[in-house]
Amino acid sequence: MNLYLKYRPKTIDELDLSGVRKVLNDMVKSGNVGHAYLLTGPRGAGKTSTARVLARVVNCEKNSGKLGEPCNQCSACKSILDGSAMDVIEIDAASNRGIDDIRELKEKIRLAPAVLPRKVYIIDEVHMLTTEAFNALLKTLEEPPSHSLFILCTTELHKVPETIVSRCAQIQFTKATSDEMQRSFARVIKGEGKKVSSEALEYLSKAVDGSFRDGVKILDQVLSNADSVELSDIELVVSGSSNYKVTILVNALASRDVKESLKQLSEATSNGVDMSYLIVSIMRGLRDKLLNSEVEIEVSKFIFALDEVARRLATSLDGELLIQVAIVEWCGHTESNSQIINSLPAQAGPILKSKLQSSDLSPKIAQRSELESQMQKEEEKSPWQIMKEKLKSGEKISPPKPKANEVQDDTIDDAMAIFTS
Ligand SMILES: [Zn+2]
Repeated sequence: MNLYLKYRPKTIDELDLSGVRKVLNDMVKSGNVGHAYLLTGPRGAGKTSTARVLARVVNCEKNSGKLGEPCNQCSACKSILDGSAMDVIEIDAASNRGIDDIRELKEKIRLAPAVLPRKVYIIDEVHMLTTEAFNALLKTLEEPPSHSLFILCTTELHKVPETIVSRCAQIQFTKATSDEMQRSFARVIKGEGKKVSSEALEYLSKAVDGSFRDGVKILDQVLSNADSVELSDIELVVSGSSNYKVTILVNALASRDVKESLKQLSEATSNGVDMSYLIVSIMRGLRDKLLNSEVEIEVSKFIFALDEVARRLATSLDGELLIQVAIVEWCGHTESNSQIINSLPAQAGPILKSKLQSSDLSPKIAQRSELESQMQKEEEKSPWQIMKEKLKSGEKISPPKPKANEVQDDTIDDAMAIFTS
């Protein structure tokens, strides 16, 4: 069994978010679980795991007469855990969004639970329901049967009608913080009987940006061949390299130091750092600096440019070049920058140079660029265009002399005839 399935939170205490744990613990203490809850927040924040925990809290055989953590051992808990419980019905609204689905549901709701004390309906992505389906659901929520519990989950609260929202107790999920992730990963590592250094745990928690699933995937790789987890193990899996520190690049970018930024980028590629990882790390690093007012607001443009680069990475032949272009654009066009750009590998030349053709160039560079672009234009012109221009300017034109062993081009002869007649 993979670690993610093994360590998905199964009790209130194992849930990632401290805020959600508090809401559920308060609910248990009060001994009162309502009829309808609306779980809102981003994907991967643990809404469905929480819904399933709640389904066991109200149905665990050890909780009869009071509420508490589910035991996960009794037949009720086990049947919910393995998905065989008839009285816990999970509906994905994205694929069952029609009136017939809800009508069928309404008819079933009237029936008392078959085995468990409470019939639980978990409706995932509830915002996907049609208007008719929402209306049917609303009627049910207005007069819920005493034995029922509705748990609606959504990533898009604004698409859920207000009439539905107002009939549910809302539980807000947020992206887990680094501290919350550390707690969850420590649980997994301890559960596997392994050890972890605090630096490794902290690095992993920051790297996954609130995704328990991503973090456990990394642990799955690292723990398979080690008894203890060190920082370098995590770095190697996360970034493809354990020798590279992205913070140096982020600092260079924050101070718009093009030389150091390009040097650090080239170091990243020679160390085999994964480009997607690198871009995401830069974006997050700069976002943190922006939030701490350590970098000017214009950095947001660069972050969006990097996002665009990240999208193109999969189809680009040279991801590093795209990042170089974005870095040069962000750091600005100064003469010293252009010298650095000229020293870049040949394949980076044309695109970076074209980036330099903007108004804030030093005159010398601008002149040269203009000349270059003029030459490029000449190359792109067809023989027809060249002749037309020569005719307009009154310049004498003569048929091109055929080179030795070359068949003379009829079309050019025809053109000559038209223009000179
Ligand atoms: Zn139980």
